[in-house]
Amino acid sequence: MNREPVSRELFDDVMVPNYAPGNIIPVRGEGSRVWDQEGREFVDLQGGIAVTSLGHCHPGLVGELQDQAEKIWHLSNVMTNEPALRLARTLCELTFAERVFFANSGGEANEAAFKLARRYAWEHYGPEKNEIISFTNSFHGRTLFTVSVGGQPKYLEGFEPAPGGIHHAEFNNLDSVKALISSEKTCAVVVEPIQGEGGVLPADPEFLTGLRELCDEHNALLVFDEVQTGVGRTGHLYAYEMYGVEPDILSSAKGLGGGFPVAAMLTTASVAASLGVGTHGSTYGGNALACAVAQKVIDTVSQPEVLKGVKARSDKLRDGMMAIGERYGVFSEVRGAGLLLGCVLTEQWQGRAKEFLAAGLDEGVMVLVAGGNVVRLAPSLIIPDTDIDDALARFEAAVQKLTGS
Ligand SMILES: *Cc1c(COP(=O)(O)O)cnc(C)c1O
Repeated sequence: MNREPVSRELFDDVMVPNYAPGNIIPVRGEGSRVWDQEGREFVDLQGGIAVTSLGHCHPGLVGELQDQAEKIWHLSNVMTNEPALRLARTLCELTFAERVFFANSGGEANEAAFKLARRYAWEHYGPEKNEIISFTNSFHGRTLFTVSVGGQPKYLEGFEPAPGGIHHAEFNNLDSVKALISSEKTCAVVVEPIQGEGGVLPADPEFLTGLRELCDEHNALLVFDEVQTGVGRTGHLYAYEMYGVEPDILSSAKGLGGGFPVAAMLTTASVAASLGVGTHGSTYGGNALACAVAQKVIDTVSQPEVLKGVKARSDKLRDGMMAIGERYGVFSEVRGAGLLLGCVLTEQWQGRAKEFLAAGLDEGVMVLVAGGNVVRLAPSLIIPDTDIDDALARFEAAVQKLTGS
């Protein structure tokens, strides 16, 4: 077995160059702390991009993974399995959903959602009703269909021709949707309740309410992409609850597995009926190991004290970041919900979010960016108060250096 030491330099020799990873390689994590190859310690406010919802190596998740690993890992979809059935039942009990399709990533859950929306319209209204309306700056994944529905044209560059029948309206602008939606042609409106990659930009409540009404008027399905906002991230199990607007289809991934790859598409029984036997599938979707881990995540995150804890942590982190922002003149606002926060850079720091990420790493705190103008935070939903204090102190030191104050 090849167990020679590896380093960051090796990346450029053996990996496709589609990422530009930082210089450290974390090798161990516990809760919200991470250690790199040299033993340097970091407070993790990245959370694997809203994935490690219960931190690193949560004992409950480790136990569940080990238990299931000794029972059975995988069966084909020619069989069903107990963990998948249990998880689907739990998701139906806790949400608007009545049916679940399992996948392995956010992109795949969205791919299923968009295919289902088309198929449902095709079955009920005919082949002309196939258009999807989504929003500028949205992000829905990197498969050709999902990246085409996404509203960031640079991600499509060089990959065209893109699938057709996709239109982009302006986020938080109902009139722009009214101008595009049509009962004859629109099969679905797809929206992130809070645009994550697009800059942690929350939808206005009236906007989502209005989308629900427009979809109902025009017999279109409302699809919520909750890949980033789901599984307790906002202090609600799913963000639609916070808005009081129910979608027809919802995609969930990222935090669902707490770091184990798993995704789900949730929908109603009547819509689900359009994905009949043989219409769609996934070899790994509903994998027993993945579903067992996700069950533990959902059971833990859905506890009222955990969700309440997200709100308390959110207030603490938001206040701390805003105070730093004001002290050094770097942030104009901190927006988002729960533990998905976006610190918006002031005019004079426009386009420089990445420098905050790098400066943070130098001081032992891992933060994210969302575009060039937003420092994004998506830590563990159960991050201890002391880790938040340390993270804020380290981030302040980073900002102090960056601003030369
Ligand atoms: C991350 C993300 C996706 C894509 O998920 P993958 O697991 O990378 O395929 C889709 N939608 C939203 C809102 C996301 O944040």
